Amino acid sequence: MSSLILNKSARIKIRLFQGFNSLKHLKHVHAALLRLGLDEDSYLLNKVLRFSFNFGNTNYSHRIFHQTKEPNIFLFNTMIHGLVLNDSFPESIEIYHSMRKEGLSPDSFTFPFLLKACARLLDSKLGIKLHGLVVKAGCESDAFVNTSLVSLYGKCGFIDNAFKVFDDIPEKNVAAWTAIISGYIGVGKCREAIDMFRRLLDMGLRPDSFSLVRVLAACTRIGDLRSGEWIDDYITKIGMVRNVFVATSLVDFYVKCGNMERACSVFDGMLEKDIVSWSSMIQGYASNGLPKEALDLFFKMLNEGFRPDCYAMVGVLCACARLGALELGNWASNLMDRNEFLGNPVLGTALIDMYAKCGRMDSAWEVFRGMRKKDIVVWNAAISGLAMSGHVKAAFGLFGQMEKSGIEPDGNTFVGLLCACTHAGLVDEGRQYFKSMERVFTLTPEIEHYGCMVDLLGRAGFLDEAHQLVKSMPMEANAIVWGALLGGCRLHRDTQLVEVVLKQLIALEPSNSGNYVLLSNIYSASHKWEDAAKIRSIMSERGIKKVPGYSWIEVDGVVHEFLVGDTSHPLSEKIYAKLGELVTDLKASGYVPTTDYVLFDIEEEEKEHFIGCHSEKLAIAFGLISTAPNDKIRVVKNLRVCGDCHEAIKHISRFTGREIIVRDNNRFHCFNDGSCSCKDYW
Ligand code: ZN
Ligand code: ZN
Repeated sequence: MSSLILNKSARIKIRLFQGFNSLKHLKHVHAALLRLGLDEDSYLLNKVLRFSFNFGNTNYSHRIFHQTKEPNIFLFNTMIHGLVLNDSFPESIEIYHSMRKEGLSPDSFTFPFLLKACARLLDSKLGIKLHGLVVKAGCESDAFVNTSLVSLYGKCGFIDNAFKVFDDIPEKNVAAWTAIISGYIGVGKCREAIDMFRRLLDMGLRPDSFSLVRVLAACTRIGDLRSGEWIDDYITKIGMVRNVFVATSLVDFYVKCGNMERACSVFDGMLEKDIVSWSSMIQGYASNGLPKEALDLFFKMLNEGFRPDCYAMVGVLCACARLGALELGNWASNLMDRNEFLGNPVLGTALIDMYAKCGRMDSAWEVFRGMRKKDIVVWNAAISGLAMSGHVKAAFGLFGQMEKSGIEPDGNTFVGLLCACTHAGLVDEGRQYFKSMERVFTLTPEIEHYGCMVDLLGRAGFLDEAHQLVKSMPMEANAIVWGALLGGCRLHRDTQLVEVVLKQLIALEPSNSGNYVLLSNIYSASHKWEDAAKIRSIMSERGIKKVPGYSWIEVDGVVHEFLVGDTSHPLSEKIYAKLGELVTDLKASGYVPTTDYVLFDIEEEEKEHFIGCHSEKLAIAFGLISTAPNDKIRVVKNLRVCGDCHEAIKHISRFTGREIIVRDNNRFHCFNDGSCSCKDYW
């Protein structure tokens, strides 16, 4: 009999060393252990307990633990360790307290996991107590324990304490450096985090993927392109670029710094791409003004068998919004359960925004109403959408509702409201909203609010007031603010102020061609030939190129792109034939091509040679020949619609009987029966 037990116990021991493939299997061995009275062998029990955590269910571990009569420090440590690895942080701390009640003291194996639990729970009080015990237990030179202390202090925001502990570690390993780097990032000191990384390399250590991902996050956060590129070189040198996490962080870094070319080359070089890297690239293209590339990549991702996640979906909807590609946006959104949109504010906002920017405020409104959780971002998207599509009263009304539902407005809410005022020319309301920001809502107006106000005042002809506001700004005015004032000057033909404005703009954005051209035209018109010539020579010295104007139109789920004077479209011949027809019809309807706008419009698109074939005219001609007679035509343009095209499209909408919607970089123009929704005010 005793040899049988010996046999069985030997078999159990062998099993214990082999491990278990299921909880059932483990329970079976545990039961045998109890039957044979071997459960008093704390070594064997400890092994069973350790394995019990492998199956993601801590209930059974608790049962094993509580059945032991006198758990020793090893069992307590295994328990704490297992619970922390299973993210059961409060329970691990409970076990610690019962261990103290048993009169047991934590040791160098207890501290790291317990400290991790404190860090995750942000329990600095217990953490500090434990730090005292670390010293008492003589563990203050243990690198593992100290690294956990650095992490804890960093996570809880006590960066000075974190650094003190870190500094005292005699032999700092990569994990310790990573902990202090993360600590600095956590409190927003990204510059220090990057410096720490440099010191890590100076020490001759080789960073691991964790430290690289962290330091890249720091570069991304502060947009430090130079450090990021240096780290990129280093990563390439040591061959870490093959690590999917490191490569994805690198992609993310370049995307956020706006260097899509480099992001793309890292992405293309990745041996395995996960959904995170795909989404990062798609969102990157969308947010860096390359919507067509975003869509192409989205289709490529689907082809590779990936289902879009929240980020990819936001990216693709943002691209569709930009291109006015309603059909595609609708189709893409159907790849995901509608409920997911209604329950997720980030997704819902993207969908509302897409519909609003594609001129379907009705659909946007439906999504907004269905949203289960409306946070400030969702409300703002709806207010901006209403403002953009000219439903100004509704936007003001929604703002009232938002306040009633207890949501505090933020800066973006006021951008939406001021934008509504601008589109409807409501100067008094705009002034009131602007003032109320500080007086009622204790919000400090940011540069974009000044930009909106300057736009509003400038368009309405209050150019002096607008100029005064720019001069009174607490911050330096940027190109957007001066650009808004330029718009006002253009609209009201103010050639004096425009000179001041253009000089500012040239200083702020020296590579923007439009400002030079416009200024040289203004000089020419007022017979200042020398000044005009000087501007043109500066332009050629600096090698400045013009921004081309693009228009996009979506037909049957395909986005077609047109450049000014473009002949690359497969249907080009037919498009130009249609354009010729339109010119004849335009003349018959009494329209005369205007050169009146030349002085102020030249910077948008080349005028002299291409007056008849601006990109939006080409897109509309294509729309007319490739859609059904009653279809609306939707065109999106990356620049402002010029005065001449605006006039022509009004006529075209009348004699073709088509509704034509053009969204330029500023607003919607809904042309219908000879007039435009902007009332010639844009
Ligand atoms: Zn035009
Ligand atoms: Zn218009």
